[in-house]
Amino acid sequence: MDEYKRLRDMMVDYQLIPRGIKDERVLAAMRKVPRHLFVPDFVRHSAYDDMALPIGDDQTISQPYMVAVMTELLELKGDEKILEIGTGSGYQAAILAELSREVYTIERIFTLAEEARKRLTTLGYENVCVIVGDGTKGFEEKSPFDRIIITAATPKIPEPLINQLKEGGIIVAPVGERFSQVLIKCKKEKGMLIEEYHTPCVFVPLIGEYGWKG
Ligand code: SAM
Repeated sequence: MDEYKRLRDMMVDYQLIPRGIKDERVLAAMRKVPRHLFVPDFVRHSAYDDMALPIGDDQTISQPYMVAVMTELLELKGDEKILEIGTGSGYQAAILAELSREVYTIERIFTLAEEARKRLTTLGYENVCVIVGDGTKGFEEKSPFDRIIITAATPKIPEPLINQLKEGGIIVAPVGERFSQVLIKCKKEKGMLIEEYHTPCVFVPLIGEYGWKG
């Protein structure tokens, strides 16, 4: 077995399952996607460690556990159209692509978006579309979405994203202060978001018209 596959299995067995990740499809995707190909060379040896890692431009790839929790909270069955805000390395988008029909992912930093697009193409993900722009405005032309995931810290759920979510759809996001947040899962019912609070977390800020101003 290749060494990275062994490290991936250890990540799932020692970081994810003991902390309560149960969705078998999520666990299988985390065992499959080669996280080490989404990080810069100088941190590749830590790709499967229990931590976020730098990916350049002062941004990070999230901790594996956080990726798994957020993905599990989305309750994916396989036929969803998903919008992700904060492409970063493209790793979360690859996990989503394994578990759904279509993924649209928006990144505000051009270089990160380009690198993520190249990686996802090289790995054969044909159901992911990377867009450069301010994700706080959503992606009107492909809306409505079954699921929306924000992978950067936001002071509140941006209004355009609520409008672009289908009735019965789910949004998962770290919401709170700039340097500390709580992971929130919201279900849209009769046009309103019903919120459920999960684990405390720390994400880099969501910067844009409906996020932080800079
Ligand atoms: N999901 C990523 C991954 O798998 O590597 C990690 C995301 S990283 C924690 C947050 C990302 O959100 C950064 O790349 C940052 O540039 C991006 N971001 C911040 N504000 C944004 C916005 N308004 N629109 C799109 N992306 C944004």
